[in-house]
Amino acid sequence: MKALVCFVLLTASFLLLLSCTIYIDDGIFDDIDINITMQVTNVEDIPLMYILPHTMTGIPGGTFCDTGSSLLFAVFDQRIVLYEYYKETGITDTFCKDAVCQHNTRSCVAYSIVGNLITVDGEIYALREIGYGGNIAKLVDGRFVDVENTDGVQMFFSWDSVLYAITTDGTLMSFNLSGNDHRIIATEVPISMSWVYGGYYYGLEADIDLGYALSRINLLDSIHEIETIIPNIRTYRTDGKYIYLTFSSREHEHGQLYRTDMAGDNLTEIPIMHTYRMAFDDDYIYYHISNMLDITYENNKHIYRIKNDFSSEPELIYQTKNSWITMYAIYKSDYLFVIDDSDYWLISKDGTKSHRILPFAS
Ligand SMILES: [Zn+2]
Repeated sequence: MKALVCFVLLTASFLLLLSCTIYIDDGIFDDIDINITMQVTNVEDIPLMYILPHTMTGIPGGTFCDTGSSLLFAVFDQRIVLYEYYKETGITDTFCKDAVCQHNTRSCVAYSIVGNLITVDGEIYALREIGYGGNIAKLVDGRFVDVENTDGVQMFFSWDSVLYAITTDGTLMSFNLSGNDHRIIATEVPISMSWVYGGYYYGLEADIDLGYALSRINLLDSIHEIETIIPNIRTYRTDGKYIYLTFSSREHEHGQLYRTDMAGDNLTEIPIMHTYRMAFDDDYIYYHISNMLDITYENNKHIYRIKNDFSSEPELIYQTKNSWITMYAIYKSDYLFVIDDSDYWLISKDGTKSHRILPFAS
């Protein structure tokens, strides 16, 4: 909840009101021409619990998901409202189609849906947050319905057709998809930047004086011990194959990116600096440079891509002056979904097209 509030406050500071609910794109890709005020926010100082450490929709999660025919995304408009972009028509509309609905009562089909959108076995799940903690909700016949026994959930993930959830008291639980089997896996787990993948739960815990330690829990073991795999890190991202990280310790250059395998072994320095906003697909790493120590850094703010075997030079694909963006590489698509200065964009992965699907003041 704390992290969500943080996310909301940050988002709120960038937003004006969304004055109408429907935005129809004219179908013409806009030239990239963004004139916005530079925002300098040291994101690394902010607890990033609600920002998931991965941003690809092949491994879903976050405030965005690809349903196949549409893109669902959560927008802060005084409160969080769920929007949907229909790929075939290019129309963006609120998910709730009731024109007079304020989306703040139980009668709304998307009542209090705040994000954590994921697809599991073709079904869509999201977090319904009510006060401190919430419920996992499943989309059934156009309405989000609470999954039973999921009270107190703060964030959840899916792996191998099971839902894994962190509760507000730091307990890691599992739920089967019908909600009738729920188990406690471990208590007092690290809950910052958490994620479940490949049979493991990952999370950051404070490492006194030296930033964070990345720890994991083997979900398949009978005993669920917390194993620290990389100490002294500032933050991390992962594509499920590698862990990308920066270190907090002085023997490593500030802002230098490294990667390891998923066990934290085989540490390698890679030719990318000053990024912690990353998205991944099968071939490329997409990254947003934000050198907080030098805001005049020549490559600052823009989005680049580089092949994940580093056989290519970095390519500039999108220019922005914003230090706070969110991006998702839409899996099996030619586009990135990018939230930039509170506008919502589809940016082609090769940088040739940009398409605003929802302006913050339409
Ligand atoms: Zn509504």
